[in-house]
Amino acid sequence: MQDDAQSPSWRPPSLDALLRSASGADLVAIFGRQASAACLRDAIQAARTAGGSDDAALLGDAALCLAKRRALSIKPVFNLTGAVLHTNLGRAPLADTAISAMQQASGFVNLEYDLAKGRRGERDSHITEWLTTLTGAEAGLVVNNNAAAVMAVLNTLSRGKEAIISRGELVEIGGAFRMPEVMVRAGVKLREVGATNRTHLKDYEDAITDKTAMIVRVRPSNYAITGFTSSVPEKELAALAKANDVIFYDELGAGALVDFRQWGLPYERTVQEALSDGADIVSFSGDKLLGGPQAGMIVGRADLIKRVAKNPLKRALRLDKATLAALAATLQLYDDPDSVAEQLPSIRLLARKVDDIRQTANRMADALRPLVAQWAVQVEGCASQIGSGALPVDMLPSAAVTMTVPEAIMRGRGRRLDRLAAAFRALPQPVIGRIAEDRFWLDCRCLEDEAGFIAQLGELQVP
Ligand SMILES: *Cc1c(COP(=O)(O)O)cnc(C)c1O
Repeated sequence: MQDDAQSPSWRPPSLDALLRSASGADLVAIFGRQASAACLRDAIQAARTAGGSDDAALLGDAALCLAKRRALSIKPVFNLTGAVLHTNLGRAPLADTAISAMQQASGFVNLEYDLAKGRRGERDSHITEWLTTLTGAEAGLVVNNNAAAVMAVLNTLSRGKEAIISRGELVEIGGAFRMPEVMVRAGVKLREVGATNRTHLKDYEDAITDKTAMIVRVRPSNYAITGFTSSVPEKELAALAKANDVIFYDELGAGALVDFRQWGLPYERTVQEALSDGADIVSFSGDKLLGGPQAGMIVGRADLIKRVAKNPLKRALRLDKATLAALAATLQLYDDPDSVAEQLPSIRLLARKVDDIRQTANRMADALRPLVAQWAVQVEGCASQIGSGALPVDMLPSAAVTMTVPEAIMRGRGRRLDRLAAAFRALPQPVIGRIAEDRFWLDCRCLEDEAGFIAQLGELQVP
């Protein structure tokens, strides 16, 4: 066989024969005939180029190819970046109750079915009562995400008319979602007022005409303007809007339903405050500070919510049953604000005390030291971020395991660090850290499954 394999005139075995062999039949039983044949064909083709191979090797290559084909590309990771609500890593981790609600809603469910009356019901009915009870709003509805909520609100309530917004709030939220462009797409004429750092009530007042539909306040979530600044309090904007019979729309972004200061976290305006300050309509995200699945909430005056609900865009932006179930279960946790910090992973992680994080970091450093023997492994203080543009300038004291390039390496230190980071990403449950100041940092704030983290370290290929 060896001689065969190396001969330039290698003749590949027949695909059928391979599929009929004992190992071939095993592959077919697990992965199906079509995929097994496709992978074997690829293996034979590669062997042809390489000059030959034997049957066992071909079947082995096909098995690897099939396993790869079967593995889902989306999978759990350890988020040790230090950003809790990391958009690239799926933002809020869901509560257990939200996860099981999602599972339960996966089959047939009363999604749009009124069980009492035995006829068609309302999809959003599963969450509207929670939204109104928790926020004090007259009415509410939900769409696919907050970007969609902004689009739906603007398009419904000011299409063909003007929306007044401060120049300091014409923000880009990320992923090319720029407020001015969204407004144009929504069919709204943008009326910018004030200057980047300062806008006064008079600026808004002067801009109101009979073409004005609304005044918009956008919370500039992912950056902060500091220094010589001034913006008009929401209460005054609401009063001005009311006096001129236009809508006041408060676009909150982050979506806090509780006061985060109770956990020593920075102040974040809540939805309840926005409404009690007089906003006619408010929008916010489901997977930022709320800690739920990706969704966008719109709450406020019943007449306005009704109009949004009737917009065909609402149909295009509606939630699926699993997300709706997870959102309902997440909102339900706020019914007991005293336990929400325990039940909701996002708040639990944000509120985690630095001493506790440091203890985790110490244990992880002990586990890592023997494995990355040449690297200097330390526990160091660092600052986590909330992430997702929430509370942008505030950093949370945290602790990290850091790994510094071995002393002996003088050149190519950067590449060595990149390779260490890649090795952690290559683990079965990838570990995502960050490189800064010549070290690789694993911020332990979001590390709760210590056993799972340690269990796979044996597979780490240290560069
Ligand atoms: C994050 C954010 C959005 C977008 O919300 P998604 O839920 O990510 O679509 C819109 N506006 C503001 C102010 C935000 O911070």
